[in-house]
Amino acid sequence: MSLKIWINGKLYDKENAKVSVYDHGLLYGDGVFEGIRSYGGKVFRLRRHLDRLWDSAKAIWLTIPVSKEDMAQAIEATLQANGLQDGYIRVVVTRGSGSLGLDPNRCSDPQVIVITDRIALYPEELYQKGLEIITVSTVRNHPAALSPRIKSLNYLNNILAKIEGLQAGCIEALMLNHKGEVAECTGDNIFLVRGGRLLTPPNEAGILEGVTRDAVIELAREAGIEVREVPLTKHDVYIADECFLTGTAAEVVPVVKVDSRSIGDGVPGPLTRQLIDLFKKLTRRGVE
Ligand code: PMP
Repeated sequence: MSLKIWINGKLYDKENAKVSVYDHGLLYGDGVFEGIRSYGGKVFRLRRHLDRLWDSAKAIWLTIPVSKEDMAQAIEATLQANGLQDGYIRVVVTRGSGSLGLDPNRCSDPQVIVITDRIALYPEELYQKGLEIITVSTVRNHPAALSPRIKSLNYLNNILAKIEGLQAGCIEALMLNHKGEVAECTGDNIFLVRGGRLLTPPNEAGILEGVTRDAVIELAREAGIEVREVPLTKHDVYIADECFLTGTAAEVVPVVKVDSRSIGDGVPGPLTRQLIDLFKKLTRRGVE
């Protein structure tokens, strides 16, 4: 059976799920999106993802033509149509088709798309052994030009960094901001452990406010671990006891090497392992 895709209120077979080549989502990357997960039939932190989607849309003057409740129902319906309990959900809202000029006022029909699919996990081995990443030369978008808090369809900044990482044999890459501070990875937020405390760059470092990041900060605080959102440099990364990344797709994944330097003992550390465990419990329990 073909995978069903939801577009503007209707389910289509994957082969017939299409948008116009005049859509400004395609022509200019003009639109917004979300990546969400469902665990055991329950969508993880749906409200938070929808709020972020609506915030991203507002930031680019895009009015999403359905309500958050309608969107939640569309997600449920699409998961059900595809018989998915544990899946990945991609919600996309484009500016719609218009003329070949930039003017978004000439676009009349924003396309609201819900894709639900199986998720291709990183290999289990990486969660056991940890990742090796590198710092890349592609600087994270300057927040005053295009805020990294907007999850827009224009992901070239991250894609260029990803390519640099891949060319060095790394599946994730660390991006610095325009001030040379640690920002985030191409699709994940970054955390360090130093002296028993968790450290992570603040929003002002120019990062996406990750839903998984928030969940991990909450879990850590509940477990009595201090968390500080502070500006970090590459030096902080190199001297950290532990390092890990968080993201909807990656969940919580240890990092053991950055720029060829071993982090801590070069193996996933105890706090990282504890948080992986707590995150697993949180998601498998399906609790917000
Ligand atoms: N940073 C960037 C640039 C991302 O694309 C993502 C993935 N959405 C994240 C961080 C992690 O955010 P989340 O935990 O909400 O998936």
